[in-house]
Amino acid sequence: MSNTVIPAPQVHVIPTGDGGTFPVRRVYCIGRNFAAHAVEMGHDPNREPPFFFQKNPNNLDASGEFPYPPHSSDVHHEVELLVGLKSGGTNIPVDKALDHVWGYGVSLDMTRRDLQGDAKKMGRPWEIGKAFERSGPVGPLRAVSDVGHPDHGHVVLKVNGEVRQEGDLNQMIWKVPEMISYLSEYFELQAGDVIMAGTPSGVNAVERGDVMEATIEGVGTLTVKVV
Ligand code: MN
Repeated sequence: MSNTVIPAPQVHVIPTGDGGTFPVRRVYCIGRNFAAHAVEMGHDPNREPPFFFQKNPNNLDASGEFPYPPHSSDVHHEVELLVGLKSGGTNIPVDKALDHVWGYGVSLDMTRRDLQGDAKKMGRPWEIGKAFERSGPVGPLRAVSDVGHPDHGHVVLKVNGEVRQEGDLNQMIWKVPEMISYLSEYFELQAGDVIMAGTPSGVNAVERGDVMEATIEGVGTLTVKVV
């Protein structure tokens, strides 16, 4: 007889490119990983140590719709490479880090910028601006055997057909292996952990009815409607 006192929450899954599912354990997001985005947010683009915040696994959403969230009037798009891990550990060396990657996808780190800005001013955590319901639209995670380990490639986000964000994966200040290695020094990484790898400049507000189209060369295109 089980002693589980409430119904067990479901393990959250996101789709994979081959029609399977990828169960998500944790979501790590890096801040200010493109110099031009650091500058547009009012920060020094020099290579300061990386920093991370988290979303919740079930914030990731592959429905193709993004419901405009409550308590904000300034919700921004951030197009990001999504990295999914098949294994983990602690103190992973940079040169072994990519061995732990299952695949890559296109994601959006949707942000209640007004609430994040208030939190920054008061020295408070960012969750209220970052980790709200369905704040992480994602496309399918594609296996390394399919897409390799993309370390360069055009990144573009259009809203209603107009280019808003543009960059290249090769402009990331902290590369994927470095992020995995750094995180593993502070946390025990495991299969199912994902990393949102940071956004290029051009972040801006969306409105209900907008259609966001995010493309990462060699990885895919994610189309999401704001509803
Ligand atoms: Mn971001």
